[in-house]
Amino acid sequence: MEKIMRKYRGSAGAKPEARGGGFKTRGLRLFEDAKNDEGEKIQKKIVDFKLEAGEKKRPVVILDNDLDFAVRMHKGFKHDGTWANMVVCRSALDDTRGCPLCDVLERRFSWYLVGTLIDMGTWSPDKGKNAGKVYRNFRRLLLIPDSVAETFEAQGEELETWRGSRFKVSRSTKDKSLRIGDSWVYDHKGGCMSEQELMDEFEEQAGTYICSAEAYCAPYDYDKILAPLPYERLLEIAEDLDSGAGAASTTRKSLAHSGTSTDGEVEDLPF
Ligand SMILES: [Zn+2]
Repeated sequence: MEKIMRKYRGSAGAKPEARGGGFKTRGLRLFEDAKNDEGEKIQKKIVDFKLEAGEKKRPVVILDNDLDFAVRMHKGFKHDGTWANMVVCRSALDDTRGCPLCDVLERRFSWYLVGTLIDMGTWSPDKGKNAGKVYRNFRRLLLIPDSVAETFEAQGEELETWRGSRFKVSRSTKDKSLRIGDSWVYDHKGGCMSEQELMDEFEEQAGTYICSAEAYCAPYDYDKILAPLPYERLLEIAEDLDSGAGAASTTRKSLAHSGTSTDGEVEDLPF
């Protein structure tokens, strides 16, 4: 593929409601429109892709044609008793009022290159009513930190296409190892999945998610799910943070070893 130009989008779109459909929604999260078992429209929580420190060779397949969407985001700050917060920064918008979170957080925003993948690894809850059941093929939001975005773009230039490309992802136990894994090795054995292979492979999981295989294998609608919250809402969040234990303590000093277990995040079945 030729080198692609990143599109930095930041215009305000539809307002995503910060609540989900029957999920525990502690914290500020991203949501997408979905349907429940009764066919009613709900907001489904979007989970970002991450590995535990030391995890090896998690198989994933990318769903985007290009990784050409970047977002400025506030992540990893404490609010509502959890660190698992994700809020799109408003500082890059055409809005002279700026971003209230930039004003109160010590660690300001980070740029992320955005993608969608299906995590083909297995996941099994160790407690609760579904303990011991094995789940796989979760659709995940991929947030690539700016520090490694160029490495991903260089990788893309070597690929025919990102869509369908399979990787084995590992995360080291090193201090500050990347939550999305430090090692992305192209899976030459698995290769690039065709459209038909994607549909066949994920049809069953799409059914669980109550949508078609086509919809399940489509990247997230980034303009929708990453639409910034209204300025007034960010002002409220900023005021909450400011009146809490102080701005400095709301920013985690190091994101090392911050896998799911240390996020203070209780996740329901993540689909
Ligand atoms: Zn900001």
